[in-house]
Amino acid sequence: MVSRKKSFQTLRGMKDILAKDWLYYDWILSNAKKIFEHYGFQRIETPILEKAELFTKGIGKNTDIANKEMYVLKTKENKELLALRPEGTASVVRAYIERGMSNLPQPVKLYHFGPFFRHERPQAGRYRQFYQLGVEMIGDESYAADAEIIVASRLFLENLGFKKKDICLLLNSIGCSECRPTYIKELKKYYRKYNKQICADCRRRIKENPLRVLDCKSEKCSSIKKGAPTALDYLCSECRNHFKSLLELLDYLNIPYILDKTLVRGLDYYTRTVFEFSLGDGTNKIALAGGGRYDKLVEILGGTHKPAAGVAFGIERLIKELVGKGKNFIVPKPNVYLVQIGDLARRQSFKLLEQFRKENIFLGESLGKESLKAQLSTADRLGVNYVLILGQQEVLDGMIILKDMSSGIQELIPLEKIIGEVKKRLKKQKK
Ligand code: AMP
Repeated sequence: MVSRKKSFQTLRGMKDILAKDWLYYDWILSNAKKIFEHYGFQRIETPILEKAELFTKGIGKNTDIANKEMYVLKTKENKELLALRPEGTASVVRAYIERGMSNLPQPVKLYHFGPFFRHERPQAGRYRQFYQLGVEMIGDESYAADAEIIVASRLFLENLGFKKKDICLLLNSIGCSECRPTYIKELKKYYRKYNKQICADCRRRIKENPLRVLDCKSEKCSSIKKGAPTALDYLCSECRNHFKSLLELLDYLNIPYILDKTLVRGLDYYTRTVFEFSLGDGTNKIALAGGGRYDKLVEILGGTHKPAAGVAFGIERLIKELVGKGKNFIVPKPNVYLVQIGDLARRQSFKLLEQFRKENIFLGESLGKESLKAQLSTADRLGVNYVLILGQQEVLDGMIILKDMSSGIQELIPLEKIIGEVKKRLKKQKK
């Protein structure tokens, strides 16, 4: 009996990143380097696998991310729970503490770029494996740090090609551990009156993570949400001054923003300023980036008091918008193809290809193929303009055939002159 072959597919919400996709990721990273290094941020990459507790403690165990969406695993020999990182800030803070970065001149400014994992319901712009560019400034409590991150983020988006007028910044302040409890009490009191009308999710949120009711997208809750008390009205004087100074600085710098009193974030570590970047007027709520202050996170994770702020950009969402704007990259392909026939020519081809590579000329080849027909057919499929043909006789004579694919004309060229000849033709073609 013939056994049926099993074929495998990527998991739901995950995808392969092919050469044509990498061009976008690479380009975004190179732009990020240019902008954020200019602003004094240095690159850090933390492991993909960390102790699960780092995130339950850092993000908050009652958040959707830590509670429902984390990929948690156990190794065979180790009973410890590990997690595929669902976000980057907690890991960077872990590294900041573990590597003694609090002894460095403060603030410590870091950026990171890599894959993150959340077991969310896959939908447009929401994956289970996605890339983020994270930017963190640790050890600075001033509103100026929030402003610097916002200014650099805007510049980064502009550099990617988004128009100034299309970049929308939503801003809010959710207070600190001093003033937030009073606000939460009021919020709970308000929602208690509507306990029967609100959706089941909000009934759960108001118990476990009350701020998140402000994030509810359900029709049912929208009018109730409109009348809810807002954190801005309950800020203590320090939080109010911090936010006021930030807004004044942004006004002075001509950075437009929309005050969104219902803006909250999905991670518990945020304090004071929270913000999101999107395109348009901010109503579509497809956030390209989210960020804010996390003044207590270093302490929560075992360090000393080091206030901090950061932002994370969703790379797939940036790519989707860039593609929508017509940003196009072409996977580089060869313009010249080397055909070799016979053992002697194959051996010589290795040397010749190396010489071309040294000159930065990318030649197509299939050294594993033997037949002339098969190699010419590959050259044809690649759509190259020139084919070089090296056979036994050519090697013995120190010559090589250069075929112009558009005219069909073939010329015999001395081997030592072929690189110069190809360079000349490629240059002519560019003009
Ligand atoms: P967060 O870490 O939740 O603050 O998200 C920061 C940014 O990452 C968001 O604004 C999105 O652009 C992006 N992002 C978050 N979750 C996902 C996901 N599941 N798939 C794709 N992008 C995401």
